[in-house]
Amino acid sequence: MTDDQKTEAKIPLTDNRSFGLMRRLFHESVLPYRYHMLAALVCMGVVAGMTTASAWLLDPVVNKVFVERNGSMLWLIGSGVLAVFALKSLASYCQEVLLATVGQRIISDMQNRLFHHIVHQDVALFQIRTSGSLVSHFTYDINAMRSAVSSAFVGIGRDALSVVFLVGLTFYQDWLLATVSLVAAPLSIYPLQRLGKRMRKVATQTQEKMGGLTTSLSQTFQGIRVIKAYGLEEFEQSRVDRLVTSLCNLAIHATRVEAAAQPIIDVFGGIAITAVIVYGGARVIEGATTPGAFFSFIASVLMAYQPLRSLSKVNVSLQTGLAAAHRIFALLDQKPLLTERGDAQDLPRQSGAVRFEAVRFSYDGIDNALNGVSFEAPAGGITALVGPSGAGKSTVFSLIPRFYDPNQGRVVINGQDIRDVTFSSLRGAIAVVSQEVVLFDDSIINNIRCGRLEASDEEVFAAAGAAAAADFIDHLPEGYQTRVGEHGLRLSGGQRQRIAIARAILKNAPILLLDEATSALDTESERAIQTALGSLMKGRTTIVIAHRLSTIKDADVIHVFDHGRVIETGDHDQLLAKEGLYAHLHALQFSSASQQDGETVPTL
Ligand code: ATP
Repeated sequence: MTDDQKTEAKIPLTDNRSFGLMRRLFHESVLPYRYHMLAALVCMGVVAGMTTASAWLLDPVVNKVFVERNGSMLWLIGSGVLAVFALKSLASYCQEVLLATVGQRIISDMQNRLFHHIVHQDVALFQIRTSGSLVSHFTYDINAMRSAVSSAFVGIGRDALSVVFLVGLTFYQDWLLATVSLVAAPLSIYPLQRLGKRMRKVATQTQEKMGGLTTSLSQTFQGIRVIKAYGLEEFEQSRVDRLVTSLCNLAIHATRVEAAAQPIIDVFGGIAITAVIVYGGARVIEGATTPGAFFSFIASVLMAYQPLRSLSKVNVSLQTGLAAAHRIFALLDQKPLLTERGDAQDLPRQSGAVRFEAVRFSYDGIDNALNGVSFEAPAGGITALVGPSGAGKSTVFSLIPRFYDPNQGRVVINGQDIRDVTFSSLRGAIAVVSQEVVLFDDSIINNIRCGRLEASDEEVFAAAGAAAAADFIDHLPEGYQTRVGEHGLRLSGGQRQRIAIARAILKNAPILLLDEATSALDTESERAIQTALGSLMKGRTTIVIAHRLSTIKDADVIHVFDHGRVIETGDHDQLLAKEGLYAHLHALQFSSASQQDGETVPTL
C-alpha cells in the first residue's frame, strides 16, 4: 500500500455533494459568526449599491454637465460622486476586516476541533493515517476551506449583489438593450461548472501529495543519522524530488484551470459589449436614446464585468475548499472504536493483579497476534514475559492500557474487566517505560513532569534522584532547565532511559509496564538503570518484557510466549528444569554471552 492509499484508507465517506458539504460547512463553521457575517454582508451590499450608483451617476454627468452644460449640477453631481466613493471605500474596508476576522476564527476553531478529535482517537488511526496526511489537514485543508468560505461570501455578498444591482439598473434603463447584452450569458455556465469539477480533483490530489511530502520530510529529518550512515541521501532526494515535482505540476495545472475561467467570461463579455455598442449605438444615431443614457448603460455593463470575472472563479475556489471540507469532515465523522461505557467506574489506585483470560487479538482481522493468552501477574510482584521476536509480548502491553480491545476473552485488573472502567482511571493506574523513550523538545524538568503535571519541583527532583538521574542532570550546564532536543537527541540512550524512569516514578502508578532496553549499555549506565528500576518496581505490580537475565532471575513468575500463546510458566529454576523453550533461549543466550566479554548479555 502506498502512502497515498494509506492516507485515504478506511475514511468513512460523508456527503460528498457540493450542496450537502456547503450546508454543513455553513452550519458548523460560519453560523457561530453569523453577526459578523451579517455585518459583512451589509457592507458588501453597500459596496454593490455604490458601484451601481456610480454607473447610474454617469447619466446626469453626461447629459446635465456635458450636453446641457448645467453649472449648478456640476457641484451637486461632483459631491454625489465623492460621497458614493467614500461610502464604498469605507464599506469595502469594513467588509475586508470582518471577513478576515471570521476567516481566522474559522481556521483556529477547526484546528482546535480537529486536534481534539485526533488526540482522542484510537491508536489504530495512527497506523492507517500517515502523520503527514494528518498534518496537512491542519495546514493545506483548513486554509483551502477558509478561502472557500470567504470567496463564497465575497462572491455572493459583493460580486453577485453588484451584478444583480447593475443588471437591474441596465433593465431599468433599457430593458431591450439589457436583454440583448445578456443573450450569451447562459452559455458560460456549463464550461464554468466543468472547471469547478476539475479543480476539485486537482485539489484532492494536491492534498494527498502534500501529506506525502510532509511525511517524507519528517521521516528524513528524524532518521538523518541512518540516512547518512547508509548513504541514502540521493535516494531520499529523488523521493522528495518526485513529490515536489508532482506538487509543482499540480499547482501549474490548478493555475491553468483557474485561469481558464477568465477567458470564458471575457469571450462572453466581449459578445455582450459588442452587441450593446452595435445595437445601442444605432439607437443613439436614430435619436431613440440620449448619449448620457447610453454611456450610463454601457458603464453598468462594463462595471458588471469585473464582479462577473471574480464570480467565475468562485466556483473554482469553492470546489477546492469543498474537497478539503470533505476530507476534514470524513475525519471528524470517524468515531473511535474504543469507547468508555456510560456507567464506567473508576479503577481504584492500588496495585492489583493483572489477568489475561483466553485473550485473542488480531491487528488486521486475519492473523492472530494473541491466540488465547491466559496468565496472571500477581499484585505487587514482578512478572516477566519472554519469548522470541513476534511472539506477542508487546501486544500484551498494548491491550493493558486499552490501546486495543481483545477480539475474544478479557483483560482484568483487580477483578474488574478493563472495559468497565474509565479510560482516565485505567491509564492513570499504569506507568509505561519502554525501550523507545519518548522525550519532547523541552527542558528536562518538564519532560519528567509529564509523569504528573501538578508535581512540584521538589517532587521532580526526588523522582530524578530515585531514578539515578540527578547526578548527570546536575552536571549539565543548565541542569534541569537543559533542553533535551527533538526526541531527546542531546542525551545518551542511558540518560534518556533514566529520565523516562524518573517520569514513571513521579507518576507513582500502581501498575508498571516495563519494556526493557534491548541495546547493551555500558556497565555504569547499566548499573544506574538497574538501581533506578529497583526503586521504580518497589511495591508495584510490574510486568516486564525481559530481554536480560538479571531481571528474569528476580521475577516472581515468568511466562514464555511463542506464536501468540503462553507455552510455559514458572520461575527461572522451574523453567530451566522443564528443558523447554525457555531453557533453549537461556542456553542460546548463555553460550553467546560466554563468547563475549561477559559484561553485556545479549537479548532473548
Ligand atoms: P518483539 O520482541 O520483537 O518486540 P513481540 O513478542 O513483542 O516481539 P509483538 O510486537 O506483540 O511481538 O507482535 C506480535 C505479532 O503482531 C507479530 O506477528 C507482529 O508482526 C504483529 N504486529 C505487531 N504490531 C502490529 C501492528 N501495529 N499492526 C499489525 N501487526 C502487528
